[in-house]
Amino acid sequence: MIPLLERYSDYLPLTAETPLLTLGEGSTPLLRARHLERELGCGVLYLKYEGMNPTGSFKDRGMVLAVAKAVERGARSVICASTGNTAASAAAYAASAGLACSVILPAGYVAPGKLAQALVYGARVVPIDGTFDQALALVRGAAAVSGAELVNSVNPFRLEGQKTGAFEICDTLGSSPDVVALPVGNAGNITAYWKGFREYRDRNVVQGVPRMWGFQAEGAAPLVQGRPVDHPQTLATAIRIGKPARGDEALAAVANSGGLLDAVSDTEIMDAYRLVASTEGVMCEPASAASIAGIRKRVAAGEDLSESTVVAILTGHGLKDPATALAQFGELVPVPATLESVLHPIGTAPV
Ligand SMILES: *Cc1c(COP(=O)(O)O)cnc(C)c1O
Repeated sequence: MIPLLERYSDYLPLTAETPLLTLGEGSTPLLRARHLERELGCGVLYLKYEGMNPTGSFKDRGMVLAVAKAVERGARSVICASTGNTAASAAAYAASAGLACSVILPAGYVAPGKLAQALVYGARVVPIDGTFDQALALVRGAAAVSGAELVNSVNPFRLEGQKTGAFEICDTLGSSPDVVALPVGNAGNITAYWKGFREYRDRNVVQGVPRMWGFQAEGAAPLVQGRPVDHPQTLATAIRIGKPARGDEALAAVANSGGLLDAVSDTEIMDAYRLVASTEGVMCEPASAASIAGIRKRVAAGEDLSESTVVAILTGHGLKDPATALAQFGELVPVPATLESVLHPIGTAPV
């Protein structure tokens, strides 16, 4: 597997001084979802399984470049606000580059796997009594005072790295898909994908561009509602954001691609989360399932995808958030360790 910065060096702002960091990011699977495509009414459906990145989310694509550029300019530390995955990724790449890392998180709303990662990778973790949006405002101030490199998706190198997800999809398919569906939080990723698809078209690697479909959680849907949300709420904590930093660009991506933005409820998200795992064997995190929930909702509302090639971006790995996973199910009560007792629950009557 070729490291991401080398694989797409012609498309990235690298110089002779940029260190070619890698933890094995990118080149993630594009899985044909044959059961789910029938279930959802898509002509062809692929899952871009970004959970297979080294820290378990797409954030690694942008972070490898943002941290490399921080090293290049001589920064000694990086800082970010995070709903969890940015923190995990920043902490890992900072560790590998020998930089210090600080992360500011909304206390109580970060999935345990992500928090564990940030701590074990050696970041300084500062939880606040407040939202992600407040944390982002604080790190902007802290970066200005401390000289630490801000590695949230307001950092342009993050988007440059993340656009490679679009390149990989086109490289695998040999053409642009018709529709790309993805969850939207701070709106960096939809902005980055749209940039990547346009660059490939402009350089004549592919002919067209896809329609960009972005989905927010109903309780955290500022772009759908057209105004900031002060107290965003959703089980999908990775997209629990009320004031997206890249909101205007996301709206432009959707408008210019003939796409759409919509909101899906937590119930729709969690149904989709279980559906993609139980029909395809792919466990993503709740936020990622907003893409599947969104496709499902739009088809139910009359959108015809029966002739379309659709790609859903599964942004993060399901193992990030075991607590939300287990909360979907009842308590598992042990039975006696006898053949009789186990045959009944597995659906086989005793002979
Ligand atoms: C960060 C993240 C998102 C949202 O991406 P934005 O660029 O903030 O819109 C969605 N899903 C997961 C798993 C994430 O970590």
